[in-house]
Amino acid sequence: MNFDRVAILDWSAASTPGKGPNSIWLGKAGAEGTTAENIATRKEAEATLTGVVAGCLASGERLLLGVDASLGCPRGFARGLTGDDTALAVWGWLAARITDDPKNRHNLRTVAAEANARFGGDGPYWGNGAREDVQGLPRKKPALPGGLGEFRETELVARSDGARPKSCWQLAGAGAVGAQSLTVLPVLHRLRQRFSDALAIWPFEPPDAPVVVAEVYPSMLKAEVDAMLATTPEMVPDEAQVRLLAQALLRLSDRDGLAPLFAPDVADTILQEEGWILGAGHAIALRRALPATQVPPRLRDDCFAMPQGVDWVPVDEALDRLRTILKPVATTEICATHRAAGRVLAADCRARRSNPPRPNSAVDGYGFANAATGDGPQRLPLLAGRAAAGQPFEGAVPHGAAVRILTGAILPEGVDCVVLEEDTSTDGAAVVFDGPVKPGANTRKAGEDVPEGALALPAGHRLRPPDLALLSALGISEAKVYRPLRVGVLSTGDEVLPTPDLSALPHQIWDANRPMLLALAERWGYEAVDLGHVRDDPALIGARLDEAAAQADVVFTSGGASAGDEDHVSALLRQSGTLSSWRIALKPGRPLALAMWQGTPVIGLPGNPVAAMVCALIFGRPALSQLAGAGWIEPEGITVPAAFGKSKKPGRREYLRARLNADGAAEVFQSEGSGRISGLSWATGLVELPDGELRVEPGSPVRFLPYSGFGI
Ligand code: AMP
Ligand code: MG
Repeated sequence: MNFDRVAILDWSAASTPGKGPNSIWLGKAGAEGTTAENIATRKEAEATLTGVVAGCLASGERLLLGVDASLGCPRGFARGLTGDDTALAVWGWLAARITDDPKNRHNLRTVAAEANARFGGDGPYWGNGAREDVQGLPRKKPALPGGLGEFRETELVARSDGARPKSCWQLAGAGAVGAQSLTVLPVLHRLRQRFSDALAIWPFEPPDAPVVVAEVYPSMLKAEVDAMLATTPEMVPDEAQVRLLAQALLRLSDRDGLAPLFAPDVADTILQEEGWILGAGHAIALRRALPATQVPPRLRDDCFAMPQGVDWVPVDEALDRLRTILKPVATTEICATHRAAGRVLAADCRARRSNPPRPNSAVDGYGFANAATGDGPQRLPLLAGRAAAGQPFEGAVPHGAAVRILTGAILPEGVDCVVLEEDTSTDGAAVVFDGPVKPGANTRKAGEDVPEGALALPAGHRLRPPDLALLSALGISEAKVYRPLRVGVLSTGDEVLPTPDLSALPHQIWDANRPMLLALAERWGYEAVDLGHVRDDPALIGARLDEAAAQADVVFTSGGASAGDEDHVSALLRQSGTLSSWRIALKPGRPLALAMWQGTPVIGLPGNPVAAMVCALIFGRPALSQLAGAGWIEPEGITVPAAFGKSKKPGRREYLRARLNADGAAEVFQSEGSGRISGLSWATGLVELPDGELRVEPGSPVRFLPYSGFGI
């Protein structure tokens, strides 16, 4: 199932010639690239299509022509109109009647009225874009004639792709698609006659002819269209749609990926009558076929610059600055909901369908019309059958009768309340209970949890297991998410050995920071990129940062970030012109070195593991969250009594390694020495002492930030 070319036709039923938005667009993708053509009238479009088909046949290229209009109709229509069950019979019927001149003047409303007359009641077609009334074509939506559906099977499947198809019966009004079908089918009918043997209309005919025409639904690529419009604002949405869909189908064809799209799992009788949207249920495959279109916003090279003359920066001010400077840098992708735990939403998620979709029963019991009951003993005759979850009761429940109903079952017509099984007795013929039962008792309203269209989760939310339940329940099968942020970790220092081994000389130490920082990044849901260790050699550090910029979205370095002789990381970053050393009023911690290296932010943490950990928790965690698209985050803490005493000088905020004792009071590690790595491991969190002067007595309230409140 491969094609050399794909053309996508976005149709218009406009009654005057016109170009631009909502006019006719033809996108074409082939080996030489993608083009789009805007066509003012349907007659010109017919000539263009004829030319495209003839051209492909002449050059021996296989063409897939996708048409954005329904090629079939809901079940029952073809027979009612033509006496035949196939959509192609409808095409012939329409082609014999519809006229459409070179000025786009058509007669589709009178033809729709003629079609309506073949069915009972007023319908199915409705909607009149013109001023004068057309006899037999209601202006407002009528009740559908018996036996006709509103939607086709394929449109229901397309909903799982995020599509919101409109009913083909609607001929006028915003987004009406009925008129498009009525005007395009005669054109396709003539194309089919003209190229009879060489052209097949799928799914009515097998898709093995040189030219295959199929129905498509470009709105499936909405996210990609939006992304394209964001970078090319002058482009008309219709053009973006036809270009992207043509490209996606051609790329899928190139990787032999089209076969599943041409093999929907439905009965052939349905396909013959209703047609099928090529790609319905396969939106993910189509999207994946497209190259990533989104260019992530870049941070400016001088973004970390501090105003001149700033000396010590209070912690809160440093945090505020980071918060305003940093923007999401991760690119986005579409991810299936069931695989999206831990991912950050890049777009709002709205309910595709109300939850619950229809009023249903909250209990096992008996359903009936409340108005038929009153106070005291009630006896209602029981209908045969029952309403169960997944097995709706067919038909209506007459006033004064009851029906067996189980939890989760849709309330049958005529039922507006349910009496709990435990409150009833029955002999199988009738159900008896004590009134009154409240109106609406034991029922759930449609949409009472979340109504269709409501915001389910906002962009920036990190998906947790319960969120997957919510999205699934609302029919959201996939979400636009940020790709996991790639966090590079690099250790520096001549004295540092990359891995613990017994060959270390007395002046050498093992790298404690890298495993800690890599594990932190992983715990926070990022992709940790181990950049290893380099000696204090500017050339080596520079070369490693070059690699880092290609592999990571942000880099943590540790060591050498101060302003001393041996502090090669800061020296190098200063040379590259973008270093800003933030002297933060914080203990433990020395300057935080912030810089951009080839467009990638570098956060230079102190070498001392205790300071490296504190700076990573206090500054690194919210900074990464912001870069990852999840927004700014604060640690969760609790106020507890101190189990220690301490006098603190003003000027610096302090973080002490701490844990809660059996009484729930915070005890601190015996030594505040910043070289005491054992205290980090002994602790279960940090006590945060404010910037000002303070005397802590045992029992004084202090703020305890458990490690768990930092997400570790
Ligand atoms: P620096 O920031 O390079 O001046 O280092 C401060 C202190 O942290 C020194 O005692 C270093 O030996 C130590 N240090 C630096 N990097 C690491 C590391 N990756 N693991 C353990 N200690 C380190
Ligand atoms: Mg050093």
